[in-house]
Amino acid sequence: MKVCMCKQCMEFYLFLDSSEKVLSCCNEPLENLEVELFELENDSHPIEIKKTGNFYKVQFKNYKTLDIHHIKYLILKTNLTTQIKKIENQSDITFLLDFNEEVENLYAYCNIHGLISYKL
Ligand SMILES: [Zn+2]
Ligand SMILES: [Zn+2]
Repeated sequence: MKVCMCKQCMEFYLFLDSSEKVLSCCNEPLENLEVELFELENDSHPIEIKKTGNFYKVQFKNYKTLDIHHIKYLILKTNLTTQIKKIENQSDITFLLDFNEEVENLYAYCNIHGLISYKL
């Protein structure tokens, strides 16, 4: 997986396979975003994860409506799939997992912090 962001138009790109190709946007090469590791409990974007059956719910603990600084996308990587959700004003997001699906990584993209990987 490769995540890029264009510094000019702020377009977000998610490449499911890490190709070595150099891609560009707005006539500039796209650079990979660095991943920052966050604890579930952190000052900026604390989350709580609730697993109920096949539902994997991510709750934003300090969610504020219309906050300029916010998480825009959540990416859930499992042993079987990669799911991405765009967040439009929700305090929680639920992913549906298959029976034999195990969560490997949870990423978030924040408009200020950039790419975050939660320590699960
Ligand atoms: Zn662009
Ligand atoms: Zn942030």
